[in-house]
Amino acid sequence: MRTDFDAQWDELAEEVLSGMKAWRLQHPKATLRQIEAALDERLGKMRARMLQDAALASAAADLKAAQVTERPVCSECGSQLVERTVAARELITQHNQALKLVRSYGVCPTCGAGFFPPG
Ligand SMILES: [Zn+2]
Repeated sequence: MRTDFDAQWDELAEEVLSGMKAWRLQHPKATLRQIEAALDERLGKMRARMLQDAALASAAADLKAAQVTERPVCSECGSQLVERTVAARELITQHNQALKLVRSYGVCPTCGAGFFPPG
């Protein structure tokens, strides 16, 4: 399990907190709606980042598990799949935040079929 994002998350949360305090001082007469928008914008960024980090941690855990257990086999010919380089896909999540997810995939060395893990 990847845990090196712990410190980054603290930093991220601190950014939201201090950013929000600074914003509030600059906007002493802000309406509830304005405060909500400012808060959502900051939380949206933190949310996207946490989602990305946590998803990457799952991918890393999957890979480790695959190394100690049996590797998946090709559904076409039954050969053992080989782990291949990662593929990035970009998702847009709430508040229009971009997420870059990196994942590994299996390739059959015999027939060349590629298999992406579900999810
Ligand atoms: Zn195959």
